[in-house]
Amino acid sequence: MKVTILGNNSALPAYGRNPTAQIVQIENEILLIDCGEGTQMRMAQYGHKAMRINHIFISHYHGDHFFGLVALISSMSLLGRTNALFIYCNQFIKEVIEFQLQWDLGFEIIYDFLNEGEAKLLLDESKFVVRCFPVFHSVPTHGFIFSEKKRKRILLPEQLTKYEIPKYFYSKLTDGFDYEDEYGNIIANEWVTKKGNISKSYAYTADTVFNKEICQYFMEVDLLYHETTYLQNESEKAKSRYHSTAMQAAEIAVASHAKKLIIGHFSSRYKDLSPFLSEAQTVFEPTELALEGITFDV
Ligand SMILES: [Zn+2]
Repeated sequence: MKVTILGNNSALPAYGRNPTAQIVQIENEILLIDCGEGTQMRMAQYGHKAMRINHIFISHYHGDHFFGLVALISSMSLLGRTNALFIYCNQFIKEVIEFQLQWDLGFEIIYDFLNEGEAKLLLDESKFVVRCFPVFHSVPTHGFIFSEKKRKRILLPEQLTKYEIPKYFYSKLTDGFDYEDEYGNIIANEWVTKKGNISKSYAYTADTVFNKEICQYFMEVDLLYHETTYLQNESEKAKSRYHSTAMQAAEIAVASHAKKLIIGHFSSRYKDLSPFLSEAQTVFEPTELALEGITFDV
């Protein structure tokens, strides 16, 4: 799983930084989280084809998280898209799209509405699942967690031959079962298989005020994105505007036992981002800035 940052600023674009958008790549699937203004241009810049996106997750209806969506859908239509597009969002987003794009797009948009306070399964694919969970912002807002499914155990061909395990039982072995032969001898699973790769997970917590209650939805993720609109010396402002500081983001990473933290959604008042990194790292050392164009391996 990989995460590419397309936009990392808050409401106003500033200092070459753009509003929020991220690409999550799992196997061959390209998923889009939020779609701030200009997202399609930055996708082109970083080599991601719009037509390959089938699922778009919009955290909330503040403009810096979806002003690029109508433009992206319009381009998909002009490029001749026919595959259905799935959008997970607040119901108001649908109204905006339908008001602005009043022609036959040539493809169907299938909506899954995220209701206030709701945590639910959004997507269940063969190799991964996506869930949403509520966070605490000035309007109904959701975070998303992308989890690879549990990997199966890997067969060891030489051992399979040695213990004469019939082929019909191979799929049971990859699920972790022991084999019992016709004489009642047990062939332990670990004699004929080895551990599969560890399944990874990524949590995106959108815009939120500092609140440890959200941790319950993404304990022990491999990579956590948390917003840091402000530095800690503006914590009162952060609270009143339902945003967080770098130190608070790091505290969420500690409380949720995340392995790594990336921080973004910087206020346009800050030109230099290095204080965000140093502030967060005083609490949680494995922190990185979610800089645009960077791809993080989960
Ligand atoms: Zn917002």
